[in-house]
Amino acid sequence: MATGRCTSALPDTVDLRLGVSPERLELTSGGVRLSTSGGKFTAHAAILTVSSHVLASGTIDLPVVLDDWRHAASLLPLGNNEKLFLEIVGPSPFLAETHVIGDPSDPETGSYYIMPLGMAVIECFLGGAGARSAASMGPEAAFARAVEQLAALFGTSVRSCLKPLVASNWAGTASIGGGYSHALPGHAAARQGLARSYDDRVFFAGEATHKTDFSTAHGAYVTGLRAAEEVLAALRSA
Ligand SMILES: Cc1cc2nc3c(=O)[nH]c(=O)nc-3n(C[C@H](O)[C@H](O)[C@H](O)COP(=O)(O)OP(=O)(O)OC[C@H]3O[C@@H](n4cnc5c(N)ncnc54)[C@H](O)[C@@H]3O)c2cc1C
Repeated sequence: MATGRCTSALPDTVDLRLGVSPERLELTSGGVRLSTSGGKFTAHAAILTVSSHVLASGTIDLPVVLDDWRHAASLLPLGNNEKLFLEIVGPSPFLAETHVIGDPSDPETGSYYIMPLGMAVIECFLGGAGARSAASMGPEAAFARAVEQLAALFGTSVRSCLKPLVASNWAGTASIGGGYSHALPGHAAARQGLARSYDDRVFFAGEATHKTDFSTAHGAYVTGLRAAEEVLAALRSA
């Protein structure tokens, strides 16, 4: 989050703080108190939208009464997905809007989306074993492996026109911790457990709380709307 305020889409009365990380949440007689990197705040209610990894890891100090929620989050860990982007420089044999799999027999292979929207880039998607291996070998070696796979498919001449641009590291980013959630075997119901609110004061949103559209951006969005409606209903009945 950036420091500063973004009020263009919000009423003037909304005091939006960006660049502030909650470190502790306490229950008070009137609602909640948040200890953050930018000071302490009190509110009638809070919506927690951090990833299941962040919730389960204890990065945010939560009261003991929320242990069941933290446990539910631990049953919905994040899997691994990463992306590498390569720039195409100069003439190349690549065709826009095409898709190839580096090596279908290799579980760590990259899946390559070539020149999306005609742009001179290649997006390399790494899932599961491929994402874990890229994280352990580091971006330089991961880029080298991607170039190797593309050279095997398109010819060695492509080596000179492929330049590493940027690599994600969702698993290594403390505030995220992975790709998106999956329920451990037998624990699909943990999603509903995590989606419950506590005492009309603490509410939970995020993709991991969606019963069917988990692991997606639209699922995350819908759960945010659901949690906001829950807060409004709780405040109206208070
Ligand atoms: C490589 C990849 C490809 C994907 N492709 C697709 C796709 O094609 N379609 C699709 O629908 N979905 C896709 N997804 C999944 C989608 O991105 C996620 O499901 C979605 O972003 C989850 O949103 P969320 O709000 O639940 O969690 P997040 O996006 O993880 O948001 C949680 C936020 O909490 C913040 N946070 C954490 N700790 C703190 C703290 N202490 N204080 C303040 N803030 C904190 C984090 O910085 C983060 O911004 C993809 C994911 C990956 C990794």
